[in-house]
Amino acid sequence: MSASITHDELSVRTRAILDRLGATIALDAPAGPDSIIARSPITGGNLASLASASASDVETVVADARTAFVSWSQVPAPVRGQVIRELGELLRVHKEDLGALVSIEAGKIVSEGLGEVQEMIDICDFAVGLSRQLYGNTIATERPGHRMMEQWHPLGVVGVITAFNFPVAVWSWNTALALVAGDTVIWKPSEKTPLTAVGVQALFERAAAAAGVDPKIAQLVIGDRASGEALVDDSRVALVSATGSTRMGRAVAPRVAERFGRVLLELGGNNAAIVTPSADLDLTTRGLVFSAAGTAGQRCTSLRRVIVHASVADELVGKLVAAYETLSIGSPLASDTLVGPLIDAGAFAGYQKALEAAVSDGGTVVVGGERVNVVDEYSFYVQPAIVTMPAQTDIVKHETFAPIMYVLTYDTLDEAIALHNDVPQGLSSSIFTTDLREAERFLSAAGSDCGIANVNIGPSGAEIGGAFGGEKETGGGRESGSDAWKAYMRRATNTVNYSNELPLAQGVKFG
Ligand code: NAD
Repeated sequence: MSASITHDELSVRTRAILDRLGATIALDAPAGPDSIIARSPITGGNLASLASASASDVETVVADARTAFVSWSQVPAPVRGQVIRELGELLRVHKEDLGALVSIEAGKIVSEGLGEVQEMIDICDFAVGLSRQLYGNTIATERPGHRMMEQWHPLGVVGVITAFNFPVAVWSWNTALALVAGDTVIWKPSEKTPLTAVGVQALFERAAAAAGVDPKIAQLVIGDRASGEALVDDSRVALVSATGSTRMGRAVAPRVAERFGRVLLELGGNNAAIVTPSADLDLTTRGLVFSAAGTAGQRCTSLRRVIVHASVADELVGKLVAAYETLSIGSPLASDTLVGPLIDAGAFAGYQKALEAAVSDGGTVVVGGERVNVVDEYSFYVQPAIVTMPAQTDIVKHETFAPIMYVLTYDTLDEAIALHNDVPQGLSSSIFTTDLREAERFLSAAGSDCGIANVNIGPSGAEIGGAFGGEKETGGGRESGSDAWKAYMRRATNTVNYSNELPLAQGVKFG
C-alpha cells in the first residue's frame, strides 16, 4: 500500500487542519484555467481547487503592498519584530498541524514536516533578535571634524517565489527578515503546494491581528508561473527572492535586471561528498544515506554525487547498499517510513530518464531504481538508487530531483576536488575524513567552490543561523542567518561635517 490512509480521509484531515489554522479561503473553486488544483503525492488524489489570482488581483496586491510599505517602513525595527514574535508563538501552537499539512501536500515524512515548521520557529526567534541588531558601521574618515557611517533602510516590496519542496520554511526565511527590515512581502508559492501557503498565511494574519499591525504587510498570491512573472516584471517590487530550478532563475534574473530590480536567487544544486581513506565509514554511511535518500532526494541540498577514494570504494558501496535495502518506503504519515513519495509523475519520469542515461553512459545501478508500492497510477514511490559511474558524464552534472546517488572514484585529493567542482551548480558539499589536512584543504579557497561546505556531515540539512545559498548556477543568493538580512535593506553611506571648515576628500582644492 502506498498509503495507510484513504484519499477521502486525507481530504477530511486536510480541511480540518486548515480550519484549525484559521484559513477561510474557498477550497472548491470551479476547476479550470483560473484555478489551481491542490493534490497530495501520498495518494496522487486532488485535495482542493483554489481560485488563481488574475492579473488585476496581482496588481491590487502589489499596490496594497506598496501602500503598506509607506507606513510599515516608518515603524521602529524592534516594534516591527513584535509581529514575528506573535507568528513564532502561533507556529509553536500549530506545529503539529502545519507539519502534517507539509507531509500531506509535499510528501515529507512526519519528522521532516515537523522539522520544517521548527525551522520557521527558529528563524522567527532569530528575526526578533535581529530587529534590535540591524547594525551599520561607523567608518574612519580622512577629513578632520567629520563622521562617516552607514545606515540600513527598508528596501520596499519583496516578491517571494518558492518551490514545492520547502513549501513553508523558505517563505519564513524571507518574510521574517524582510518584515523586521521594514519591507512588505508578497508570496507566490509553488502551484504544487498551495494549501500549506494558505495555512501559513492564515497564521500570519492572526499574528498581525495580535500585534495590531496591517495584515497587508505580508500577502499571498495563489497562482502559477504567470503570477510569478507578474511580480518579476513589476518595478514596484524592489527585490525578487526566487527559489526553484535553475531554469526558473535563468528566466527571472534577466527580466528583473532589465528594470534594475534586485534578485536573490536560490536555485538547483548538485551536491557531493568526498570520502577519503581515513573516513569513519560507518558514520559516513549514515550521513550519506540520509542526505541522498531522505526527502526522497527532493532537497536542493540532497546528496547526488559521492566521490570516494578507490581504496575504500567497494567497502563503502557495500555498506550503502546494505543500508538502502533496509529503507522503509511508503506513506510519509506512517511513523516508520523513511522515504516518502516523489511529488508527481513528472518527477518519476525524470528519475527514470536519468537512470537510463546513466546506464547508457556506462553506469551500473547497484541498488534501487524501481517504482514500488504501486497501488494506482497517480502516486509515485521509488526505491532510491545508487549508480556507480565510470566518469562524471553529462547526466551526473545535471540535477535530477529524485533519489539517485552517483558514485565516482578518485586516487588523489586534487583529482577529487577537481571532480567535485566540475559541475555547473555550487550549493552544498562535504568531506568525510579524519585527516585535519584534508578537511582544512577542502574548506579552503582551493577546496570546495560551494556556498556550504561541511566536514563529517552530509550536504543536506542546514541550520538557520548560517547564511544559506550557493554559487554558479545555484544563483549566488544568501538567505536566512548571518548577515543575509542585508539583502532586504538598502545601505546609505552618510558623512557629517561637524567642523567650521570644508576640507575635500583626497586633498582636492577648489577655489
Ligand atoms: P520550479 O522552478 O519549477 O518552480 C519554483 C517556483 O518558480 C514556482 O513557484 C513556480 O511557479 C515559479 N516559476 C517558474 N517559472 C517562473 C518564471 N519564469 N517566472 C516566475 N516564476 C516562475 O521549481 P520546483 O520544481 O518547485 O522546485 C525544485 C527546484 O527548486 C530544484 O531545482 C531545487 O534544487 C530548487 N530549490 C532550491 C533551493 C535553494 O535554496 N537553493 C531550495 C529549494 C528548492
